Amino acid sequence: MTDTSGKSWHFGLLGYPLGHSFSPHLQTAALLGTGLVGKYHLYSLPPEEVNSIIDLLNLVRSGEIDGLNVTIPYKQVVLPHLDELTSTAAGIGAVNTIFARAGVLVGDNTDAPAFLADLVSKTGWRRDDPYPATGKLPVALVLGAGGAARAVVYALGQAGWHVWVVARRIEQGRELLFSLRHHISQPMHTITFDGLPVLCAAVAPKFDLLVNATPVGMSPEVTHSPWPKNLDYPVNTYVYDLVYNPPETAFLRAASASGLRATNGLGMLVEQAALAFEHWTGRTAPRGAMHAAAIRITDGDAHA
Ligand code: NAP
Repeated sequence: MTDTSGKSWHFGLLGYPLGHSFSPHLQTAALLGTGLVGKYHLYSLPPEEVNSIIDLLNLVRSGEIDGLNVTIPYKQVVLPHLDELTSTAAGIGAVNTIFARAGVLVGDNTDAPAFLADLVSKTGWRRDDPYPATGKLPVALVLGAGGAARAVVYALGQAGWHVWVVARRIEQGRELLFSLRHHISQPMHTITFDGLPVLCAAVAPKFDLLVNATPVGMSPEVTHSPWPKNLDYPVNTYVYDLVYNPPETAFLRAASASGLRATNGLGMLVEQAALAFEHWTGRTAPRGAMHAAAIRITDGDAHA
């Protein structure tokens, strides 16, 4: 399958620093898999060059760049320079994907739908399932209160989950819940990591899902886990680690050793990239080829 239009697609990633990004590999696999020609550039802009962001965004508005991903530290910085936000990006208050529609610069956040899609594909959970059997709201425990946690809490809250956010700084947890209050009608609470033993010892709530949305356990700190030592995981919970490198974190290893079902964040990573590619090109993303590219990188890193 080869594109005969003669168009060369131009995508990129805005952030700083951009050391070991998977995005160029995923988007190159997407281009190859759809027979399109193009390149994915890294726009590593240090904070002192923040004004160049406006020039870069104008290139997207004019169509010279077909699409941008945005990562730390610019996911919120770009907001005032965009013309429109999707309801998801507006709800989360951060964007990871930018594209133009007829000269209108639009920001979206594909992390939230990507997390939910991967969770559903791994667990088979469906919104209207009577779950747990009592018919109560499913309950999630989310570790971390940063940008990724915000997308996860938004996705879960919108899908009808009752969410507990565990923050090491309680003010960050409170700020997260406050900023989502108009978008989520389900109950949301926040506690610190110190409060976990008491919460987990309580008869209720029972946690259906435990998510690590902190960077703890990421390569090279592979022996670290965000879960407190000497505390058992909740029983029967599904464990989801947003970290994908290494593929099996200490957090996931301990979950499997406790007999829990668990997954890493690779599926979410591929899905958020696939959704961005679809915004930019209007084509269905070749998720299988993108997933294979992601596996090749994690295998390569593991052997490095
Ligand atoms: P972030 O905005 O920097 O937030 C990190 C959060 O984790 C903050 O609440 C931070 O608290 C907390 N934290 C950091 N170290 C901690 C520790 N030792 N103990 C307890 N809490 C700690 O980062 P992010 O963008 O949310 O990313 C978080 C992780 O998710 C990263 O590993 C990232 O690669 C991953 N991620 C994966 C995907 C995917 O597609 N799979 C997508 C997005 C992100 P403080 O503010 O107090 O430091």
